Amino acid sequence: MANGSAVATTCPYCGVGCGVLAERSAGGALSLRGDPDHPANSGRLCSKGAALLETIGLEERLLYPEIGGRRAGWDQALDLVASTFSRTIAEHGPDSVAFYVSGQLLTEDYYVANKLMKGFIGSANIDTNSRLCMSSAVAGHRRAFGADTVPGTYEDLELADLVVLVGSNLAWCHPVLYQRLAAAKAKRPEMQIVLIDPRRTMTADIADLHLAIRADGDVALFSGLLTFLADHGAVARDYVVSSTSGFAQALAAARALSLDETAALIGLSPSRLLAFYQLFARTEKTVTVFSQGVNQSSAGTDKVNAIINCHLATGRVGRPGMGPFSVTGQPNAMGGREVGGLANMLAAHLEIENPVDRDRVRRFWRGPAIASRPGLKAIDLFQALADGRVKAIWIMATNPVVSMPDVAAVEEALETCPFVVVSDVSSKTDTLRFADVALPAAAWGEKDGTVTNSERRISRQRAFLPLPGEARPDWWIVCDVARRMGFAEAFSYVSAAAIFAEHAALSAFENRGARDFDIGGLAGLDETQYEAMAPTQWPVPAEGAVGGRLFSDGRYFTPDRKARFVALRPTAEARASRDFPLILNTGRARDHWHTMTRTGKSARLSQHLAEPYVEIHPADARRIGIADADIVRVSTSNGAILVRALLSNRQSRGAIFVPIHWTDQFAAAARVDRLVPACVDPHSGQPASKHAAARIERFAAAQYGFAVLRERPSALDADYWALARCVGGWRVELAFARDDRDWPAFAARHLQKRPDAQMLAYHDVGAGQQRFACFAGDRLVGALFLAAEPVAVSRDWAVDQLGAEFSSRGARLAIVAGRPARGLADRGRSICSCFAVGANQIAAAIAAGCASVEEIGAKTQAGTNCGSCRAEIKALIERSALQAAE
Ligand code: SF4
Repeated sequence: MANGSAVATTCPYCGVGCGVLAERSAGGALSLRGDPDHPANSGRLCSKGAALLETIGLEERLLYPEIGGRRAGWDQALDLVASTFSRTIAEHGPDSVAFYVSGQLLTEDYYVANKLMKGFIGSANIDTNSRLCMSSAVAGHRRAFGADTVPGTYEDLELADLVVLVGSNLAWCHPVLYQRLAAAKAKRPEMQIVLIDPRRTMTADIADLHLAIRADGDVALFSGLLTFLADHGAVARDYVVSSTSGFAQALAAARALSLDETAALIGLSPSRLLAFYQLFARTEKTVTVFSQGVNQSSAGTDKVNAIINCHLATGRVGRPGMGPFSVTGQPNAMGGREVGGLANMLAAHLEIENPVDRDRVRRFWRGPAIASRPGLKAIDLFQALADGRVKAIWIMATNPVVSMPDVAAVEEALETCPFVVVSDVSSKTDTLRFADVALPAAAWGEKDGTVTNSERRISRQRAFLPLPGEARPDWWIVCDVARRMGFAEAFSYVSAAAIFAEHAALSAFENRGARDFDIGGLAGLDETQYEAMAPTQWPVPAEGAVGGRLFSDGRYFTPDRKARFVALRPTAEARASRDFPLILNTGRARDHWHTMTRTGKSARLSQHLAEPYVEIHPADARRIGIADADIVRVSTSNGAILVRALLSNRQSRGAIFVPIHWTDQFAAAARVDRLVPACVDPHSGQPASKHAAARIERFAAAQYGFAVLRERPSALDADYWALARCVGGWRVELAFARDDRDWPAFAARHLQKRPDAQMLAYHDVGAGQQRFACFAGDRLVGALFLAAEPVAVSRDWAVDQLGAEFSSRGARLAIVAGRPARGLADRGRSICSCFAVGANQIAAAIAAGCASVEEIGAKTQAGTNCGSCRAEIKALIERSALQAAE
């Protein structure tokens, strides 16, 4: 990138797909801002997007190929991958190998991986971690629309008079879309927002009505709505007749429960349920947004169809401000769907079960062996590894050892598999320890290609950094292996642009309007045009209208062009038991992403929630004997983890919530996949990650600790530890079951990295406290605070000492004496990541008279940059007002 010029690219995190401008100043400094011209975000970025530059450093990068953990050359590594895959296929057939890929891949990477597996190896054993994210939405769309089509656009959320958010914490998981919605509501306060979620998430703060239904109560709730619509004259009869089929059967099935029975089943009062039904029935312009709370369920596909049934019944599909709207978790989950990244799809939204489609793709690719049936979905794939059916697997850009359910089985499967290839950007993923061959992939900012966001908008990801070490783009790695397997001609691409051109041509091949995904109008782009391609919403046919809403003409992609109602059984499964009386829900935190391989590098993002935690209702906690900030053991029949307890009345009674992000790299035992069983939706194969029976017990700690360290500690020998980046180093929370250790030796092991470093110690026997500080010259190397109770030292103060100078012995002694910390204001839990404003500072501003988010922003700057914390600031203001009124 030339100094002074900006490169337009796309954020690599969530499915909103925000445009980003990366710019190098005349002095060479890199900066980043939201792209004002990108239609998804018009210049906005959330906290994660705004901190992207803090995550692109080369520490913990995989920079060279490795075989058996030792550095190898590319030729050697690629030859080994190609020859092992070829030999395994020759000896055991095409279904003995598999790829497990990722919604982090670019469309071009995805395209060639899918082409190699389905068109040249002749197996459909390629599945993606998007299976865990939105495959129920795909299955639901295909059942209802005859194609995996998202009908609407983001603008529909702003045009709607009613937005229903189902199982979607938009404020934390799709923050810029949330900001667009919040801005629309601020402009038109009469717009109604309903949140349907067992938790009162931050998204509830813009909701007019929150329905805290029981986990998996969605099918019953929307079946009840279908009945209500039919009984109150809200069905669009002409539309139902002309554009749909199956209404009578779907309605008959929905009538299985009365309104009172539905309300009782899902844990709501009939009047509250009725209020929602009446609002939905009378509001023509309604959008229903759904995401992981709907998809990640053993009834995920049915939930999707229960929602779509209500939109079909009212004819509210594909018109301005109307429609069901699936929002995807990952940046390129949609791109993966377009190229057939799921084991049960072919490329270009063609169907693997359809012989005409299979022949069409075979002819287009001129491949030797098109896959003849669907391949193994994620859970089945790892089971096939375990039982020896799959003997070689290539895992690309994903960390299944942390993200898959029933992790013990996944680890055993990878241990058993004779040949495991992992291509990744990070040298520190939990999956890499199983790799026979590790291949260094290009990271965000280094690679070129396209991604598709939740509203079908294809955007370019452009490189603005050089490739470090020997890292290579994923498409390059796949194509080189394909060439070495004997498929040189079909994988001779010279650039991502050439792959995109072929992908676009396939979408138009023998299409003639029969299939939704058609970007044939982009098939002729040359390198320069591809480089300049602006964000473009599909469809983009060679002739005809580009982008916009789909199905506005009431014609779908089924054989008779009518949408299908799906008859559903209105149930809500209850899985709690005497031994495991709580329901475990899992999900995302605001400032972290997936397994933290990127966001864990940012001090700013790591401060918002610096430890793994479980949210529990105060009444449940009281009953079990748990206090706020206790360390607790959360168990299911699958396993157990140790996390910090957060008491919150945002949590429903009887239910708990644990975030998905913490791995063995950041905590002693906090991987939530240890808890989640391998239970899947029968249609989509998507695991039910939000509904496991669990219990909680207090972990009886005899000693607590807190440390700040300049260098990342290794091998922390504590029962509980949680590590987070901070400015100048790392911060660690600790807890120990026993207090009879040699604590000076423990301190020396973790703090004294150089023999000439000076260690100071202080032991307050009466208070049960010990403090250690280690200095190299006038710099603090690390400090450790131990106490019989949770350590009360100000975390902000301790972190700040890593950047301070200690020129006198007196100043150094003051650290272990803890004197400077006394009377020092603690910022409190981080709320605003952009300006490092904590909860205590916001509370002080409220006490000083600030009564709105804007006034807090004027006084503290909190919430004035990316806006991701505005919902939390609003919640603090409201809580303070409630307390004042009590
Ligand atoms: Fe990235 Fe945030 Fe936009 Fe999602 S909302 S794409 S994480 S900037």
